Amino acid sequence: TKFVYAFSEGSRDMKKLLGGKGSNLAEMVKIGLPVPPGFTVSTEACRTYDEQGQKLTEEIKTELAEAVRRLEKDTGKRIGDTKSPLFVSVRSGAVFSMPGMMDTVLNLGMNDDTARALAEQTGEPRFALDSYRRFLQMFGDVVLGVETERFERELERFRAQRGYTSDPELTADDWKTVISVYKKLIEHHTGSPFPQDPNVQLQLSVEAVFQSWNNERAAVYRRMHGIPHSLGTAVTVQSMVFGNLGDTSGTGVAFTRNPSNGKKELYGEYLINAQGEDVVAGIRTPQPIRTLHEAMPDVYDSFVRVTDKLEHHYRDMQDIEFTIEDGTLYILQTRNGKRTSQAALQIAVDMVEEGVLTKEEALLRVDADQLHQLLHRRISGDNNLQALAKGLPASPGAASGRMVFSADEAESWAEAGEKVILVRPETTPDDIHGIISAEAVLTTRGGMTSHAAVVARGMGKTCICGCEAADVDIKAETMTIDGTMLKKGDVLTLDGGTGEVFSGSLQMEEPEMSPTFQLLLGWADSTRRMNVRANADNGADAAKAVEFGAEGIGLCRTEHMFMDPARIPVVRRMILADSKRKREEALAELLPMQRQDFEEIFEAMEGRPVTIRLLDPPLHEFLPDKEELLIEVTTLELTGDAPEKLAEKKQLLDAVKHLEEANPMLGHRGCRLGMTHPEIYAMQAEAIFLAAGQVHAKPEIMVPLVSHVNELKAVKAVIEREAERVQRETGVHVDYTIGTMIEVPRAALTAAAIAEEADFFSFGTNDLTQTTFGFSRDDAEGKFLRQYVDQETLEYNPFVRLDEEGVGRLVEIGAHDGRSVKPELKLGICGEHGGNAKSIHFCETKQLDYVSCSPFRVPAARLAAAQAAI
Ligand code: PEP
Ligand code: MG
Repeated sequence: TKFVYAFSEGSRDMKKLLGGKGSNLAEMVKIGLPVPPGFTVSTEACRTYDEQGQKLTEEIKTELAEAVRRLEKDTGKRIGDTKSPLFVSVRSGAVFSMPGMMDTVLNLGMNDDTARALAEQTGEPRFALDSYRRFLQMFGDVVLGVETERFERELERFRAQRGYTSDPELTADDWKTVISVYKKLIEHHTGSPFPQDPNVQLQLSVEAVFQSWNNERAAVYRRMHGIPHSLGTAVTVQSMVFGNLGDTSGTGVAFTRNPSNGKKELYGEYLINAQGEDVVAGIRTPQPIRTLHEAMPDVYDSFVRVTDKLEHHYRDMQDIEFTIEDGTLYILQTRNGKRTSQAALQIAVDMVEEGVLTKEEALLRVDADQLHQLLHRRISGDNNLQALAKGLPASPGAASGRMVFSADEAESWAEAGEKVILVRPETTPDDIHGIISAEAVLTTRGGMTSHAAVVARGMGKTCICGCEAADVDIKAETMTIDGTMLKKGDVLTLDGGTGEVFSGSLQMEEPEMSPTFQLLLGWADSTRRMNVRANADNGADAAKAVEFGAEGIGLCRTEHMFMDPARIPVVRRMILADSKRKREEALAELLPMQRQDFEEIFEAMEGRPVTIRLLDPPLHEFLPDKEELLIEVTTLELTGDAPEKLAEKKQLLDAVKHLEEANPMLGHRGCRLGMTHPEIYAMQAEAIFLAAGQVHAKPEIMVPLVSHVNELKAVKAVIEREAERVQRETGVHVDYTIGTMIEVPRAALTAAAIAEEADFFSFGTNDLTQTTFGFSRDDAEGKFLRQYVDQETLEYNPFVRLDEEGVGRLVEIGAHDGRSVKPELKLGICGEHGGNAKSIHFCETKQLDYVSCSPFRVPAARLAAAQAAI
């Protein structure tokens, strides 16, 4: 095997072997850009180093020596030479750029003799000594493990002694003194003198890069981003050009476009008379790149030409490092630049208009899962604050407001004109009015599909869930994080995109669906095969969904209509009824309300398909919390002054106790409720048919949680009976279909039988994930799932991204078997996964007809569906 490659032997296709830096340097040499010559020690060498117990093999050492000799020939200089010494930089270059690894050693080759030679050669002793001391510091830090702060402290002490305030005041003799101090520092800390031999310096540096691949920070980063450990890193060795050779020299970094908003403009900064680390270190303030135009017009012009050439060559925005040595420009690195979503969008669209990219390529350049950032308020980048705590980023956006601890208070404060943040251990359907009134919701328990998360996402409202570091005391109305106690009325800011909780109010940026955004989504629409629908439960959400491009409603959760504060008393009367007659009376009261809801939704959707799901959650969710009721009853009993209220509360408490279940999510819910209380589904069906007849809609009625075909048969009979009756009584014909959710394994496994009775299937992958893994969707994330993901027990959170091997297998079986008996069976997905790019990709491979997600995710789903189809 070959371990070392000269730049002239590589190309950008060799990224795996040469790393990002090495392969791009080779490519730049190939296209004739001014790159100082050098070579790359391959990732293969890194793997061999590891296999040999962290030792450079003889082969690698020999190739390294040969490469140095070749470099000496190319440059006409020699490493360690006392007349014309060669100096090099040593940098790591993994396949994916990776923070946490050893980055850069500049000026390698410096020692007492070569520093003297450089001084004579350039006639600049001060420059030569400055370069030497920089090398001692960098090499000392990254290779020998003597922290850079120790060097800084020595330098500071020296400056103070001499009464200097900045480095430029130091003379050549001063640097000489500093150098001897640095050398002593190194010897003191490592137990041996600083190695004067440049070949030893080089070998140690290469080893240091390889070792840094294994350090903890790098390993953590790789785990987080799923980068395999086995990749290894390459090492790039490049002959030095000096940016610190006086006022005709300098160094800088520039992007070919603005990485923050995507604008086509050179964006970057530089420093005159400086080396690379000065720009990053922030000791001197760099100049904006456009001022280089005045300072060095020729250099600026050639730099602009280079940036154009690079961007054209790579067909993407580039992030470029350069150095100017005595008026000559050199390019030291290029790579595809990191950018915000807004910039990604702008650049992709612009590049199509410039004829650089095809529309398909542009669609693939934008990360669908990041797109939501463009639709929500976000915390402005100017804030540089430490978060108090971090929970799950359940629903993106950012919001500030005063903390309140109950839904009622959220509502009353909001009515009084306050912006509030609702803080709860977790939310229940009982809190819905509080969520509506709040700017954002923070819970300490519950995961990404918990009630708070689903409801908040549906509303496009910021939400952080499972923030377990926060200790909420509902009674005392306080929240304690890390010993800091916050109380009701204190201002919080939540970043739902990152899960960060801040104290106080932070500056925000407003969202907009820009023309550029619309344009890209238009291309997506003409590219995708699958339809995109939205999950929406009311006219306003439905209208929002249409605005974002939804082509129908894939899931209308009718229970949300029952939560309306005006209706809850009627719903409770229905639940508490002790006779069929009383129940039917309450249902009769609900009927016109439901009918109104459906009419509003049908109208907002203007003839687009609407899937309405019959009541799903267990009935206890419509009743108050047991603990709170107990407290109320006890208090009333003690005071004894409201006997009627006490009787009422006691009756409620009895009902709550009666409906209580050990496993409510596996309990009396979904179609099981429709089986035991057919009158509820009958009322809902009647409301649907009345509304559909009124506005000429074609409803798709969906039965939840079916596990056996007989359940569907029975519920279907109830729906059909109502359909016939309403059509007969009103004389209006309604086109409708009846389908089912597939959300328990048995339904997927018996899809062929179920399909006989269904016009469509909608995969409810929230429950299907819950029931396939046996993980509670409300508790798993905070309790153990996060650890599973952190420790790579699971590659990803299956409630966010569809688990392809398990849950996905059931989707596949359900789709295949269902279609085998009914080829025209319509198939969709309406769990949270319907808005997740990778899951949408999976749905495309199974040829589903549509995905459905919350209105705010519809744009991302349109893009992801297009990407999946390319
Ligand atoms: C599901 O289970 O995936 C689903 C969409 O239904 P819900 O989230 O309302 O249980
Ligand atoms: Mg469900």
